Amino acid sequence: MENVDLLIHSAAQLCVVPAHNGPQRGAALGDLGIIPDGALAAHQGRIVATGRAADLRARFRATNEIDATGRCVLPGFVDPHTHLPWSGDRANEFEQRLAGATYMEIMAGGGGIMSTVRQTRQASVADLVADNLPRLQQMLAHGTTSAEAKTGYGLDTAAELKQLDAMLALDAAQPVELALTFLPAHAVPAGYSGRTDAYVDLVVTEMLPAGAAWMRQHNRPLFCDVFCEAGVFDLAQTRRILETARELGYKLKVHADEFEGLGGTALAVELGAVSADHLVRTPPADIQALGRGDTVAVGLPGTPFGLAHTEYTPAGQILAAGGALALATDCNPGTCWCESMQMVIALACRYMKLTQAQAVAAATLNAAYAIGRGTEIGSLEAGKQADILLLSVADYRQLGYRFGTNLVEMVFKRGQRVI
Ligand SMILES: [Zn+2]
Repeated sequence: MENVDLLIHSAAQLCVVPAHNGPQRGAALGDLGIIPDGALAAHQGRIVATGRAADLRARFRATNEIDATGRCVLPGFVDPHTHLPWSGDRANEFEQRLAGATYMEIMAGGGGIMSTVRQTRQASVADLVADNLPRLQQMLAHGTTSAEAKTGYGLDTAAELKQLDAMLALDAAQPVELALTFLPAHAVPAGYSGRTDAYVDLVVTEMLPAGAAWMRQHNRPLFCDVFCEAGVFDLAQTRRILETARELGYKLKVHADEFEGLGGTALAVELGAVSADHLVRTPPADIQALGRGDTVAVGLPGTPFGLAHTEYTPAGQILAAGGALALATDCNPGTCWCESMQMVIALACRYMKLTQAQAVAAATLNAAYAIGRGTEIGSLEAGKQADILLLSVADYRQLGYRFGTNLVEMVFKRGQRVI
């Protein structure tokens, strides 16, 4: 008998969600690798083996044995697009939208992202940590074991670096593991109204080098992201920022095609970005480009739902082109304050027409690839980090089908029970 730290056994379904030499692309999306009467052994935070319960119980003796009878076991959800950390809320703007104002109208009037920027600039690192810990606790309780977090509510060098410091403190203070993104090009700040190119100059000459110095100082990689959108940063400005960032050692992400298709997705593929996110109004040629490149398309169905829009990421077209599709919450105080990947799966099934199996793979394995971590997390394969969920139900197909309640009963991060 081998001694291990953790043995989860007798699961009605154990969903391995195997990698396909990378993310599950195109028609291959939705391979959950289900083991009935399944078991998983983990030691020192890593998965040692998965298989039938009888086989693993004969092979391993564990300090901590979990009987998962009547339960489904899954990889922890990975949320590859959030806007944590921020300060304050915009409940008043939601009320304005309900009365007929559009998101872009509110933004043009000084609200929107700038409203959160004003509140976040006033917060200290300690304030940001205190405000955002409960959000991460909600994410964890709903099954998210790794997430991306972004700056973008500072929009000046000091406030952007303050957000990075807050992320680092949040990463150390709780179990959800954070991948960090620098997004000084999230909006054009008030002082640069009508002078977007001057702000882009500041981004490339001062802010990106400051973020690169922060990377070296803390030995933490950063993604650089740009909100490529009509009225925000156009394609040429986006290219200038991303090419500079790439030279400075950032990996790349892009907010593309949320309201208009400007070519941001094809640019992301061309520059080797790790992901292109939103992709609601993506032109057909850009969808084809996703099939040829390694850039993961990240659908954020909580955002059109949050805005009461009717158009969603065309998942069927992306998969038909052979693209790799992931899901994320886009958790942010303006358009989509939602911490739950279970809710995102429910929306993706209805409005992106994914099956539950496709949505689960997009929220785990493919989401891990969307933050460049696909070889470490996102599936229950031997050697990977032991980030594991136990659902309170026996069948993974209850995910998506049910919504608004939490089906996650236990969460393990690196083999330790955290919920
Ligand atoms: Zn976003």
